[in-house]
Amino acid sequence: MEKTTQMYEGKAKKVFATENPDFCIVSYKDDATAFNGLKKGTILGKGAINNRVTNHLMRLLEKNGVPTHLVEELNDRETLVKKVSIVPLEVIVRNIAAGSLSKRLGLPEGVKLGSTVLEYCFKNDDLGDPMVNDYHILAMGWATREELDQIAAYSFKVNQVLSEYLKEAGIELIDFKLEFGKTKDGTIVLADEISPDTCRFWDSVTHEKLDKDRFRRDLGGVEDAYQEILRRLLGE
Ligand code: UDP
Repeated sequence: MEKTTQMYEGKAKKVFATENPDFCIVSYKDDATAFNGLKKGTILGKGAINNRVTNHLMRLLEKNGVPTHLVEELNDRETLVKKVSIVPLEVIVRNIAAGSLSKRLGLPEGVKLGSTVLEYCFKNDDLGDPMVNDYHILAMGWATREELDQIAAYSFKVNQVLSEYLKEAGIELIDFKLEFGKTKDGTIVLADEISPDTCRFWDSVTHEKLDKDRFRRDLGGVEDAYQEILRRLLGE
C-alpha cells in the first residue's frame, strides 16, 4: 500500500493516509525531544530501530492475546497500521521507581515498587500531559468504564509479557508508556510505539540505562544504547 497525504506529524513520527481509509502508514523519525519539546536533538538511526523494535514487541504481544494496530512492516522506517482514533491518554506502567514518580514521591531511582503502578496522563502538550484518574477520564468522556477496564487489563498483560521476555535478554523493564486506539468497529487495540523512547530499559546486571534517559540526561552513548537494544532483541 502507498502513502497518500500526510495526516499528522508528531515529535518522533509522521502518519500518512493510504488509498484504504482503514489503514495508515507510520514513518519513524530520528528526531528526539524531551521535557515536553524543550530539549531537541537527533539520534542517528533511532527511527529505524524504534520501528523494528516496536514491531517485534507488538508481534510478541499479539501472540500473547494483546491486539495491536500493527499490520505489516513496510521497510526500515515505515509500518502499515490499522487506522484508529487515539484514546487521548498516556498509560504509564511502573515496576521500579524512576523519573517523575521518584521526584513526586521522593523515592530514589531503582527502588522496587511493592506492586505494579498504573498511571494515566491526559495527552495534551499545552497542559504538559497532566496526570488524571478514572473519574476525570469518565467525566471528560475520554473512555467508557468498559474501555478503561480493557485498557488497564491490556496494560498489565503487556507488562507481564514484556518483563518476562526482556529478562531473557538481560534487560530490566523499569517503566513504560502505552497508547491505545479504537478501530472503526470500536475495538480497543494497542497503538503508538514500544521502544527505548517510551520505555526505561536497564541492563539487568550493571543497571546501565539503555533508553532515552541517556538523551534526556546527557549521559552520552545514546546511539549505542538504542543499537544495543536492537541487538539484544533482534540479534543484530
Ligand atoms: N514516557 C513517554 N512519554 C511521555 C512521558 C513518559 O514515553 O510523554 C515514558 C518514559 O520514557 C518512561 C515512562 O513513560 O519510560 C515514565 O515516565 P515518567 O513519568 O517517569 O516521566 P519522565 O521522567 O520521563 O519525565
